[in-house]
Amino acid sequence: MQLQLFNTLTRKKEEFKPLKPPHVGLYTCGPTVYNYAHIGNFRTYIFEDIFRRALEYLGYKVQHVMNVTDVGHLVSDADSGEDKMEVGAVREGKTAWQIAEFYTQAFFEDAKKLNLLSPHVIPRATQHVPEMVGMIQALEKKGFTYRTLDGIYFDTSKFKGYGRMTGDKNIQGLKSGARIEASPEKKNPTDFALWKFSPKDKKRQMEWDSPWGMGFPGWHIECSAMSMKYLGETFDIHCGGIDHIAIHHTNEIAQAEAATGKPFVRIWMHGEFLNTGAKMAKSAGNFITVRSLEERGFNPLSYRFFCLNAHYRAPLDFGWETLASSQKSLEGLRDHVAEWGVKSVPGGREIKKENSVKEKFLDCLRDDLNFPQALAVLWEVVRGNLSDSSKREMLLEFDQILGLCLDRPMGSDLVPEVQELLQKRTEARRTGNFAASDKIRKELEGKGILVEDTPEGPRIKRKPKIS
Ligand code: AMP
Ligand code: ZN
Repeated sequence: MQLQLFNTLTRKKEEFKPLKPPHVGLYTCGPTVYNYAHIGNFRTYIFEDIFRRALEYLGYKVQHVMNVTDVGHLVSDADSGEDKMEVGAVREGKTAWQIAEFYTQAFFEDAKKLNLLSPHVIPRATQHVPEMVGMIQALEKKGFTYRTLDGIYFDTSKFKGYGRMTGDKNIQGLKSGARIEASPEKKNPTDFALWKFSPKDKKRQMEWDSPWGMGFPGWHIECSAMSMKYLGETFDIHCGGIDHIAIHHTNEIAQAEAATGKPFVRIWMHGEFLNTGAKMAKSAGNFITVRSLEERGFNPLSYRFFCLNAHYRAPLDFGWETLASSQKSLEGLRDHVAEWGVKSVPGGREIKKENSVKEKFLDCLRDDLNFPQALAVLWEVVRGNLSDSSKREMLLEFDQILGLCLDRPMGSDLVPEVQELLQKRTEARRTGNFAASDKIRKELEGKGILVEDTPEGPRIKRKPKIS
C-alpha cells in the first residue's frame, strides 16, 4: 500500500508523491512563546512528530522546519488587540524579549519530555524580519497591498481563489462574524495585516524600521516567509491544528501565491482539537501543561500514548482517568519489553511472521496515519503467539514511529526531584536508617510514586492523582 494522506485543500485522501523524492519538505506551525504550551497544543505536535517519524521510517529524507512565533501574534487572530508577547511581558514584569526566551526554552524542555524530535530548522520570527519585509515589498510591487492608519494590508479581493481551503461557506461566515472588530478602514473584512505600525502614543518593545515606517510583521507573513526561505517557494507538506485553516493558513496561501505566482504547498494537514470541557486557552490561563501532568505523578509519555487513542482528524476528549489507564498500559508494555529481553533466546525470531505483522502495522499508518488501528496491531502482537524475541523486536520496531521509549525502564524518566529522593532513600537503606527511608517513601507516595523493594532492587510504580 502507498502512503495516503488527507489533504485539507482538496478534502480527500491522496497518494503522497513528494516533489523531489526521497526528499520531503515539512513545515509545522510552531508555538507562540508567551506562555507554556498546553497539552492541546502538544496533541498537534505529537501528531506531527509521529507523522515525521513515519515518513522517515518509510525511507523519506525529511527536512522539518518549525517556526517560533516570538512577535506579531495578536490577542485576536483578526489583526486587533495587543501582541501576545507584550501581554506576557506585562503579566510577568519582564521584557517581551525575556518572555520569548523563557517560553521558547520551556517549550523545548516539554517537547523533549514528550520525545518530540527536534526540527532540523527552528527559525524565530524576530530573526527573519528582513525576509518578511522583502515579501511584503514583492506583494506591494504586484499591487496586492494598501495602507491604512495602522498598517499595510493584503487586499484579499485581488487574490483569485482566496479562501479555497475552507470553501465559500466558511468564508461567508468569516465575513459576517469573526473579523468584525478589525480595522474599520479595511477594504474587505477578510483583508489582513502584513505590517502593523507601532502605536504613536506608546513605545513597543519589539519593533523594526521598514519602508513603511516603524512597526512589526503580521503573524501570517511570518510563516510564509520562513517556510519558503528554508523549503522553497513550493514545498510538500504544511501542518497545524484545525483552528489555523480558516484564517492563518488561508492567509498564508494567499500572500505566498500572490508573491511568487506559484503553488505554495501541495498537502495541507490539520490535527483536530483536544477537548478539555471548558475551552483551554493560554490567554485564559485555564490550561494543563506537561509540567502539571508531572506534578500529578504522570509520565509525560503517557500523554503521548493517550493521543494514540484517536485518529488525528477526530476530536479527542481529555480525562484524567483515561490518562491514568494510558499510563498503566504504557508501564505494562515497558515491563513486557524488559521481560521478553531477559527471557529471549538467540535465534528465537520468526522473521516471516514479523514481516507480515510489520506490514500490517505500517499499512495502518500509510492509511492517513490511522493511530488507533496501528495501536490495535501492537496489542495483537502483545497478546499473540509470536516468540518473545519476535514480540520484543516488533514492539521496538513500532516504537521507532510511536516514540514511546518502550525500552526505557520506568524509573528513567522521573523528574530530577523524584530521582534525588529515590537516591536518598537507597542511601538511607544502605546505612540502615529505615526511619528515614520510610519517611522518604511517604514523601514519594505524595508525588504519585510508589516504591516496592524487591531482591533485584527498588521497583517503581506510578500512582497518579486523577481528581
Ligand atoms: P499556538 O501556540 O497558539 O500558535 O498553537 C500551537 C499549535 O497548537 C497550533 O498548531 C494550534 O492549531 C494547536 N492547538 C491549539 N489548541 C489546540 C487544542 N486544544 N488541541 C489541539 N491543537 C491545538
Ligand atoms: Zn504558522
